[in-house]
Amino acid sequence: MRTRLVPAAGMAALTLAAALPAVPAHAEPAPRPHPAAAPQAGKGVRLHTNAELAAALRRIARASHGRVKVRSVGTSNEGRPLWFVTLGNGPRRLLYVTQQHGDEPLATESAISAVRDLGLGNGRAARHLRSKITLGVLVRANPDGHERNWRYNYDPDAKPEYGEPGKGYDINRYHDPAVRPEDNPVPEAAAIQRTYAAFRPSIVVDYHMQGRYAFPPPDGREITTSIQWPTAAGVPADAVRRSKQVAVRMNQAFTRAGAVVSQYPGGSYQGIARNAYGLRGSASLLVELSDLPPERQRFQVRTAHLSMVDLAFAAGTGALDRIDPARADAIPPRGPELPGARSAHDHGHGHDNAA
Ligand SMILES: [Zn+2]
Repeated sequence: MRTRLVPAAGMAALTLAAALPAVPAHAEPAPRPHPAAAPQAGKGVRLHTNAELAAALRRIARASHGRVKVRSVGTSNEGRPLWFVTLGNGPRRLLYVTQQHGDEPLATESAISAVRDLGLGNGRAARHLRSKITLGVLVRANPDGHERNWRYNYDPDAKPEYGEPGKGYDINRYHDPAVRPEDNPVPEAAAIQRTYAAFRPSIVVDYHMQGRYAFPPPDGREITTSIQWPTAAGVPADAVRRSKQVAVRMNQAFTRAGAVVSQYPGGSYQGIARNAYGLRGSASLLVELSDLPPERQRFQVRTAHLSMVDLAFAAGTGALDRIDPARADAIPPRGPELPGARSAHDHGHGHDNAA
């Protein structure tokens, strides 16, 4: 997708659904417009610039009295920090990753508000949750790609097997467990590999964006979210089973938030994060938010936010472990692309277009 997301008049404070445990949402002033942002008015979500993202995360950390920690776990080729936010001190460890593809930004906005809610909430539910889980969020894994509003990292001299010469690598093809971080040509992917190894999450969720699709008639509804578990050969059966439990729970959380969910027709290449972290034994899930029109971007941000918060609670309470994983197979396959809705996102180069 190459759609430049346009600034909105202001980003509404995101609030948790009433169905969720009571964790207060904390309003935050909308960031100032990006000087390079398109000048026209629009209803789209106002995205944090890289500098604003750093400032927002620092503000949350400061306000949390030590409950939220923010640190850089690496740098992009242009020297931008890769921010890793952690909260909680419980035994169940979850890792969320957003925006490996620079032009798929919405879940980064969701992550900021999810971290704020889960980290700053001081009610009984939030405090209890933080004793049950440790959440790590690698927010905006591709800041150089974000800066350019393109899919790849920035490495114009690269001759990438997966990526585009003159631009850079497709970060989400360089998680192969057989490739050590020190041999990884993609610093952002290497940082995620290292973070994974040090953090040892039992659950990994990787947030992306896709084009626009609908279920075939007579259903005909537009799909707002597609999800998939690891499909590479060699993923341990137990990891697949736990990934499917995550898929079932995420399907419920998104659906309850008003989303229309399908499976994602992803491939089996082991360099894709969804497959790679399944191969390494974690429950692993890909989430693809559809590239809906600007007036529905806030909805997309909210649904992903709710999914992040809900999964944390499901893992913390143990509800996740009681789910029948076979129910994941009933999530319907993705339908055809909407006419006229083709986006560059669906035509990435290399293995397994998109994702
Ligand atoms: Zn993607």
